[in-house]
Amino acid sequence: MLNSLTITKSQYRRISAFLTRCLPEEGCGLLAGSVDGVVHNIFTITNKFHSPVRFRMDEMQLVRAFQEMDSKQQVLLGIFHSHPNGPDHPSITDLTEFYYPDSFMVIFSRLKRGWEASAYQVHPITKSYNSINFIRN
Ligand SMILES: [Zn+2]
Repeated sequence: MLNSLTITKSQYRRISAFLTRCLPEEGCGLLAGSVDGVVHNIFTITNKFHSPVRFRMDEMQLVRAFQEMDSKQQVLLGIFHSHPNGPDHPSITDLTEFYYPDSFMVIFSRLKRGWEASAYQVHPITKSYNSINFIRN
């Protein structure tokens, strides 16, 4: 499996701006791209829980996102969501409800000066995770 995810600074800014607009709720979405872990497409998805501590992606928007990925021959690389009040790592709920073990979990946590992102590989069976490189070019 891949051990890094690469995103451009402009993609990073776009996600950060979206997550700021979602405040005080958690925001979420998908990172799609090529099998070498380079992100080419960002899908912002509505958090249907509209909660500051939980998220669930809107199913219809997910279907449309996967259709677009298929048509562009992109793969799902990561699922991102925000922790408006921290922490910077997955919660127990995140590990329990992670349905995409072949992709990375990316968490944007909010610091005084903005958002900081970390990427993880999640192991659903053991409910554990390890950090991977999240490269911003
Ligand atoms: Zn979370």
